[in-house]
Amino acid sequence: MKQAKCSFCGRTDNEASLLIHGIVGSAFICSDCVTETYEALQSAFDYGSKVKSKHNLSFASIMRPDQIKSVLDKYVIGQDDAKKHLSVAVYNHYKRILHPSGDDDIEIDKSNIIMVGETGTGKTLLAQTIAKVLKVPFTIVDATVLTEAGYVGEDVESILSRLLQAADYNVASAELGIVFIDELDKIARKSDNPSITRDVSGEGVQQAMLKLLEGTVVNVPPQGGRKHPEQKFIQVNTKNILFICGGAFDGIEKNIANRLNTRAIGYGTINDKNNIDKNNLMQYVSHIDLKSYGLIPEIIGRLPVLTCLQSLDRAALRRILTEPKNAIIKQYQKLFAIDNIKLEFADEALDYIVDKAIEFKLGARGLRSICESIMMDAMFESPSKQVKKLRITLKYAEEKTRKLTAGKLHVA
Ligand code: ADP
Repeated sequence: MKQAKCSFCGRTDNEASLLIHGIVGSAFICSDCVTETYEALQSAFDYGSKVKSKHNLSFASIMRPDQIKSVLDKYVIGQDDAKKHLSVAVYNHYKRILHPSGDDDIEIDKSNIIMVGETGTGKTLLAQTIAKVLKVPFTIVDATVLTEAGYVGEDVESILSRLLQAADYNVASAELGIVFIDELDKIARKSDNPSITRDVSGEGVQQAMLKLLEGTVVNVPPQGGRKHPEQKFIQVNTKNILFICGGAFDGIEKNIANRLNTRAIGYGTINDKNNIDKNNLMQYVSHIDLKSYGLIPEIIGRLPVLTCLQSLDRAALRRILTEPKNAIIKQYQKLFAIDNIKLEFADEALDYIVDKAIEFKLGARGLRSICESIMMDAMFESPSKQVKKLRITLKYAEEKTRKLTAGKLHVA
């Protein structure tokens, strides 16, 4: 009998890993040829097979601001002001997409957002949760890795490569996505006066970002980067992509204080000055302060929604441990429940974890690492022990963290 061969490459049954029989005649195809054909198809269609030309967003499907906020409340503790700003900005953003300028010629501006607040106060978490609520593609980029085209580092276009990836190369869906640009403060010019500074590197990136924030069609290399010159570009329009920027803007309180002082003396009354809460200057942050911090006016203009996040106090940290939907303690309880172990924490043990996070000045980020140190031995031993219940007491927590120092903790 004639030996079966791949009709494409001629590999025999023995040579090919798998030979698939055709339905008619004596045609065969081997698994290697299937793989190659699949790749050829993908590149020929330029991912086009997945590209939808229209989004399936409808006004009825969009959550109202108070609905968005109430979902945020489930995941993020406090930060009410930021939540309100975000909910309204996102709602307006999608209204703008669904109601492009009509007969009245009124075009709604984009409501890109900038969030100012210490690290670990929930900026990323807020942006992430918003994307989850809206079920749109989401990506996080670190502004510090971005460079101007032609320099070592990532081009600003790489932001869109990641968004495309997150959207599974569905361009229409990526074009409605959300990009979170973290550490925007790190690309601020080091001085307000460009003539006395040679540090223009940050400004170059800011310039490169302008068009992206405003809305432009960008040729995006699907794999990101310039390493594959032969690859085809995908065109992505950033007009309807919502950009949320975040930054700690360390020391911006000084700029705020300066501005408030000048204003109080120059234009306001002494009363204005007395009403200022000097312990929480961040709440007065304005676009002017961002400019004096070193963001160029054009960038500031493209980030019209400005909101600040408050630093987390003891009470907020304590709530973060147990209240959010994905609270750290709930996660440990779930892990132990899988082994049929009921895990409990004494209130004093939880207070102790918060105290340690404050002592190490690690804020919310520290909570997880401290819990991990406390729980490590229990997670190692419990699955093999016949225990049904485990209670973490203050004594146990103290014992497990006795040798802990801030330097030893791994904080992501
Ligand atoms: P940022 O982006 O401001 O630096 P993140 O959002 O990355 O901070 O927060 C770090 C971690 O701390 C999050 O994964 C989350 O577990 C926790 N966290 C921070 N702030 C909050 C908050 N307000 N509510 C709940 N969890 C928070």
